[in-house]
Amino acid sequence: MEDKNKEVMEKGKEAVIESVATPAETVETAAVVAEPVIPPEAAKEEITPEEVKNLLPSLDGWKPVTKLGKEVMENKWDLKSILEAGIKIKEFQIVDKLMPELGHEIIYIGGSPGKGGGSQRTITKKTARMHKSGRRFRISSLVVVGNGDGIIGVGQGTGKEHRNAIEKAVEHAKLNMVFIKRGCGSWQCACGQPHSLPLRGVGRAGSVKVELKPAPRGTGLAVSDDLKKILKAAGVKDAWCRTSGNTSARTNLIKAGFNALKSMNNMKQPNFLEKSLIKNADQNLERSLIKNTDQNLEKTVDQKISEKSE
Ligand SMILES: [Zn+2]
Repeated sequence: MEDKNKEVMEKGKEAVIESVATPAETVETAAVVAEPVIPPEAAKEEITPEEVKNLLPSLDGWKPVTKLGKEVMENKWDLKSILEAGIKIKEFQIVDKLMPELGHEIIYIGGSPGKGGGSQRTITKKTARMHKSGRRFRISSLVVVGNGDGIIGVGQGTGKEHRNAIEKAVEHAKLNMVFIKRGCGSWQCACGQPHSLPLRGVGRAGSVKVELKPAPRGTGLAVSDDLKKILKAAGVKDAWCRTSGNTSARTNLIKAGFNALKSMNNMKQPNFLEKSLIKNADQNLERSLIKNTDQNLEKTVDQKISEKSE
């Protein structure tokens, strides 16, 4: 039995090696397999974030159409350089290819009325329009995508079913990605490490205004739970914030936070801010001042003594 198993294993290994050696064939076969098969879960009313991860589209059967997509297939790019070069991503599979382990966070934008007033927050928002034969529903969702190291995207999606809406939102978020400048703009800290924001940023969406401010190390995220999701995805560890407007409109709150983070890129920073030399420069200045004053003091004392002696 063991010998047979070994043979099977070796055959399997060979098969894997062959398939790796000829990627074009695997892509074609995968395209045949990836026919739209609607799983039975599609009919379900509610969907959990764990289920969504299994339902997300994979790279199987992707044939790049754009120039960027073709170059990505040839491993000529990484995501940060694409975003910094300002090239627009038109195929979400580019992000899947470059960052296969990109996490996503679903914002609870919806609500279903619960017992005794108030509402239970849900991951999707269900809206209705009236038709002569009854109500027609539409479901929308909002998703934040980020690698926790400066790259984030926010996307919105609408569909007839929960899973469609969430899938569309994730795809949209991947087309809507930006690289965010981080830094230490806090005068209390001035460590120069990228744990916070380089400067104060303001973002607006609808009536909501979000103002994000740099905070010293150890502050944490002094923001609401929804804004925490977007700041965590961006890799910001310490921040203060002030909001105004109708912040219970989650969609606008998240969009305003995203705009505030994007506004960090509108300001041109001097090199020494990025290279974290502020603190050292300050220390050097202090040292030199102390030294000079000491020397001056000594000199003056010496002079006075010499003058008196004369
Ligand atoms: Zn700092």
